[in-house]
Amino acid sequence: MSETAPECIFCRIVAGEVPADVLGRNDHGVSIKDLNPQALFHALVISVDHHDNAAASAAADPASIGHLVALADEVARASGNADYRLVANTGAGAGQTVFHTHLHVLGGSSRMTETL
Ligand code: 5GP
Ligand code: ZN
Repeated sequence: MSETAPECIFCRIVAGEVPADVLGRNDHGVSIKDLNPQALFHALVISVDHHDNAAASAAADPASIGHLVALADEVARASGNADYRLVANTGAGAGQTVFHTHLHVLGGSSRMTETL
């Protein structure tokens, strides 16, 4: 689905109903600081449209993922982290806890990805 889901925390953040530290945005995504950082720099890039995961977003609109990656690069560079990792946990077995498309943007030293 591509509409908002009322009980989804990331839909509520995108809508401005739940406060977050916003680092940047474009037509396809909003970047915020992660509430529970796993690296010196840990941002999320959240899709504007509600889909369960990055693959579902890509299936619905392949270009949207490119715009999310571009936003991730922008906020990473703006924070002085030209080198960074992108992580898209997909499925509960991979540690996904919020089932709304998001990229983790990790800069600086970080713990291993198992807990992301
Ligand atoms: P996942 O485990 O689904 O890949 O990642 C979800 C991420 O969202 C976690 O790193 C968690 O800390 C973060 N998170 C969950 N709820 C909130 C929230 O309300 N605000 C912010 N800023 N981050 C959140
Ligand atoms: Zn959502």
